[in-house]
Amino acid sequence: MDTQKTDLLSLLPDELEKFIISLGEPKYRSKQLFSQMHKGVSPDDMTNIGKATKEKLSKSAYYSLPVIRRKLVSAIDGTVKYLFELSDFNSVESVVMKYKHGNTICVSSQVGCRMGCAFCASTIGGKVRDLTPSEILGQVLVAQKDTGERISNIVMMGIGEPLDNYDNVIRFLRLVGAEDGMNIGYRHISLSTCGLVDKIARLAKEDMPITLSISLHASDDETRSAIMPINKKWSVDALLSACREYYAATGRRISFEYTLIAGKNDSQASAERLAKKLNSALRPSRSDSFPIHVNLIPVNPVEETGFTSSGKQAVTKFAKTLEDNGIRATVRRTLGADINASCGQLRREEEKKK
Ligand code: SAH
Repeated sequence: MDTQKTDLLSLLPDELEKFIISLGEPKYRSKQLFSQMHKGVSPDDMTNIGKATKEKLSKSAYYSLPVIRRKLVSAIDGTVKYLFELSDFNSVESVVMKYKHGNTICVSSQVGCRMGCAFCASTIGGKVRDLTPSEILGQVLVAQKDTGERISNIVMMGIGEPLDNYDNVIRFLRLVGAEDGMNIGYRHISLSTCGLVDKIARLAKEDMPITLSISLHASDDETRSAIMPINKKWSVDALLSACREYYAATGRRISFEYTLIAGKNDSQASAERLAKKLNSALRPSRSDSFPIHVNLIPVNPVEETGFTSSGKQAVTKFAKTLEDNGIRATVRRTLGADINASCGQLRREEEKKK
């Protein structure tokens, strides 16, 4: 990556057009370039562009995609996990999951993470750097090319806190939605956050109705602050009030992630407290119909954290308590159980080898 040069894959259609015209090239060239680049084809390999244009481009711009460093395919359900190497040799992970409603990719937004959640593998070495818009998009393009199947849904749930890399993530969302590119609409995208309240408020004003997924994991400040440092900055109440505003602005339902950790947040009392909190904060009057959905995820044991997963019985009981209190709850189906598919663990393995 040459920072003096223009990163072609991070440019929006109108920006690419301006850039192409500034090189003295005809306007239509920009559309050709955009659609090919967004299929994972480098300008150098395009057959409909002449040598002179390619030379002009390579003098002032670059096109770079992440390289597949490792690839694991689940024998159980076909889930594919990639360890991608970036141009500065940092690495990130992506996972492609095959659902009936289409192939879904889980992408990373940062190299590492600075949020410090106690159960998470991605944050152990801190944040190294933000990913550029093209590095986030590149994960989708390379995975789609490699699997040979269309990717139709995106979840921003890989390594990093997407709202901590706000501008680049917003640009990525615009790029991936572009008609001449991947053309993935906002309704097919969800973004998971540990709860950066100021950024949730900003996102509500972007006119980008993506689905928000809130990593809640506890409904009282004491428990949540003990496992998620961000809660010391923005309390559970502040977070839920931002969720209300997001829903009011976008009409999009919000889902809550709740990772069950044995002995920490998985008791009957925790389930009752969670239901009560969600109902009182999001549906203060009886007529409120705020659609609440909780995804229960038995914690994935990470060697360094010492946390263990709640037993099957505790998980089922937790879900039932939520349902009994009017909260829809599903236990997350584990995909790729045989390939360590939860994000951050493959990169962590590689880092340890260094
Ligand atoms: N930073 C964002 C997105 C990345 S984490 C966020 O916090 O939402 C994606 C999801 O995986 C989050 O819900 C996170 O809390 C959860 N997670 C992290 N480590 C986990 C583990 N060991 N077991 C289960 N879920 C985990």
